[in-house]
Amino acid sequence: MSDLFDVIVIGGGPGGYPAALRAAQNKLSVACIDGWKNYDGSYAFGGTCLNAGCIPSKALLESSELFHRAGHEFKAHGISLSALKMDITAMQKRKADIVKGMTGGIAGLLKAAGVTALQGHGQLLPGRKVLFTAPDGSTRELSAKNVVLASGSVPMPLKSAAVDGKQIVDSWGALEFDAVPARLGVIGAGVIGLELGSVWARLGAKVTVLEASADFLPIADRQVSKEALKQFTKQGLDVRLGAKVSAAKVGKAGVDVLYTDAAGEQKAQFDKLVVAIGRKPFTDGLLAEGTGVRVDARGFIEVDAHCHTGVEGVYAVGDCVRGPMLAHKAKEEGVMVGDLVAGNYGHTDLDRVPSVIYTAPEIGWVGKTEEQARAAGFTVKLGVFPFVASGRARAMEASGGFAKVVADAATDRILGVHIIGPMAGELIAEAVLALEYGASCEDLQRTIHAHPTLSEAVHEAALAADKRAIDMPNR
Ligand code: FAD
Ligand code: NAD
Repeated sequence: MSDLFDVIVIGGGPGGYPAALRAAQNKLSVACIDGWKNYDGSYAFGGTCLNAGCIPSKALLESSELFHRAGHEFKAHGISLSALKMDITAMQKRKADIVKGMTGGIAGLLKAAGVTALQGHGQLLPGRKVLFTAPDGSTRELSAKNVVLASGSVPMPLKSAAVDGKQIVDSWGALEFDAVPARLGVIGAGVIGLELGSVWARLGAKVTVLEASADFLPIADRQVSKEALKQFTKQGLDVRLGAKVSAAKVGKAGVDVLYTDAAGEQKAQFDKLVVAIGRKPFTDGLLAEGTGVRVDARGFIEVDAHCHTGVEGVYAVGDCVRGPMLAHKAKEEGVMVGDLVAGNYGHTDLDRVPSVIYTAPEIGWVGKTEEQARAAGFTVKLGVFPFVASGRARAMEASGGFAKVVADAATDRILGVHIIGPMAGELIAEAVLALEYGASCEDLQRTIHAHPTLSEAVHEAALAADKRAIDMPNR
């Protein structure tokens, strides 16, 4: 094997492996180095997303949702079950099989594309050289015309609640429970807290979520956050806002947590505690002295709009750089850089990155919230269509929530779309395309949507923005 490549990618997650694949599609010689190690000591491509993030969490969300629906919704359909039982071992095996299949798939894709896949550690040296350390400790110096850093992120630690991997765990640990904890505490009502809190609540845990902020889901449109809190509370998630944890100690009867909220000092006891207060960029051991790559005060690698670090031929993508920590954002940046290094056009628009929270109801949005649009000085017009008026949602027994279109009253241009309801994560794709094409409400209004589908809610919301909805009264 030659030690000289056109491109070396460090990191094989959703940022790194697409960069490697696109560069290889562009007929460049590529190596991809990844150091992800699973609990059993095995190496696997796919990064956080495939091994301990997006995919395993969605597998558990699906299983737990089916269990919940069987217990709560089947009766309405006329289906009766004599005994409903959850086999956690089988659920976890299914999840592990999906993960194994998907991570093996990435290795297969790299091989098929002719990418040299190296499992171990990569470190950028000055002069676009890379020191590769294999699992057996042996080292090799590689060099490349371009290096792509895609080292990802890790959970943010909380001093007052140190993870022990047994009773106090991070998000990875919360994906691996082999039994349903009777009392589950979650610190952080963010995306992970809500998704994993939902999983274990649906399976029977009493879940308490301690959130430091006084606002619930401040990143979402206010109307959506309000509806979400109402629905999650109804489902039994006990979300305590303005809760600041000062100590978490493992005792004989469980994890004892001390926190303060508006009412003063509080105590709580849990069987397991999940710390999910955000993630931070991971660059430990990535950059040798003298590379010239800059890291900002929060640990992110500094890049421009094209993910260039300012050091000739060195790029960085995904969670280790600014912008939302999302797999599809990382992938898009990876693809962009895989094109740029081949001299092709590449572009990523961070204003068009959709966000999805895979709870039930799902939450999905893209573009400006109503509040952001107003703060930016737009005269806003709004169209809101509730799923209770959607025949398909009613047939699915999933009529909670709504679709909301935020548009500029002066130009009719759509500024943002916000959905809380069934399949919001799928429905939002149409809105992303609408924003990408600079669509107006009228463009969406004149687009034919199949009946009966959930997508009609987005159509009707666009109509409602001009008080022209058909399937609900216009106010
Ligand atoms: P990572 O996926 O973290 O990959 C980085 C890789 O680089 C890792 O394999 C790491 O081991 C390796 N690496 C780091 N340094 C080195 C080095 N020096 N040498 C060799 N290898 C190195 N996002 C979504 O969009 N949708 C979701 O549904 C979603 N769900 C999530 C659920 C959970 C529980 C978590 C924790 C995250 C979730 N995310 C989700 C976020 C998503 O996982 C990340 O945004 C995404 O994985 C970022 O991709 P990345 O390639 O930048 O980094
Ligand atoms: P997050 O930023 O979504 O939420 C963290 C929450 O913890 C916030 O509400 C914050 O106010 C709160 N918090 C911070 N410090 C606290 C403290 N000391 N005590 C109590 N609460 C505190 O972070 P996350 O949920 O850990 O997720 C990390 C990243 O992973 C996110 O950036 C997200 O984009 C990504 N992710 C995405 C998905 C998805 O796309 N569906 C799913 C999971 C994770």
